[in-house]
Amino acid sequence: MAHITELSLRAMLGRGKGLPNPFPLSVGDKLTPAAADFLKQRNIGLVRPRQDDRDRVRDLTIHPLIPVGVSGRHVHLSAEHITALFGAGHKLRPLRELSQKGQYATQETVTIVGPKGKIPDVRILGPSRGTTQVEISRTDGYRIGVNPLVRLSGDIQGTHGITLVSHTGSIIEIKEGLIVARNHVHFSPEDAKLLHVAQGDRLKLQTQSERPLIFADVIARISSHYSLEFHIDTDEANAAHLDTGHTVRLIGINGKMKDSVEGELS
Ligand SMILES: [Zn+2]
Repeated sequence: MAHITELSLRAMLGRGKGLPNPFPLSVGDKLTPAAADFLKQRNIGLVRPRQDDRDRVRDLTIHPLIPVGVSGRHVHLSAEHITALFGAGHKLRPLRELSQKGQYATQETVTIVGPKGKIPDVRILGPSRGTTQVEISRTDGYRIGVNPLVRLSGDIQGTHGITLVSHTGSIIEIKEGLIVARNHVHFSPEDAKLLHVAQGDRLKLQTQSERPLIFADVIARISSHYSLEFHIDTDEANAAHLDTGHTVRLIGINGKMKDSVEGELS
């Protein structure tokens, strides 16, 4: 894992060997924008790390890095609420696939209406769910006058209600289901095994961003439908200077620091 800057590229050039074209990146390598420009100006392409299974096993074992997925505000609807908002027989129309298998953003949107304001054009994610759930950030909550509880997706008992309005003016009011999503990591069973993580484990994840911080209590969720991804909301992403596609490092599980970082931190 290397931090590649314009300076380090110039140093490589200075050693007289020139730069490889294309320039190979390893898993976890970070390229500064100036370094990327430097290569681009010289028409040097980049080779991203291969992700075939063998590489992946080795990479994850050596570098326990988890890709970040930032979730914007969104709505999951029950079949009953799809009908109430969009009419009988309406089927959600997929817009694009999401990183988790079977999940997709839809063409449909709703307006979220709170006591002090509303947020239009909030994306609905498919497929339909057993229960309607609305996930917003705390910042969104200030905008519309609500202060939702932080909950894991699906755990909505006793949470706030909210009003949703479709583009045709159909209105539904849910009694509960408005949450700020609690951060979590999706693991396939294979990746969980490689990283020695079990269902429900509490993880410590360290960012590798310009504003380094540790997410101290992140829940592990494992399913064969999942692929490795750390899900945070936009407030968390902004606070930590993280974007989708960045990586965080797994440094602890259930209060125990991983061996590789124990020395570094003490
Ligand atoms: Zn998720």
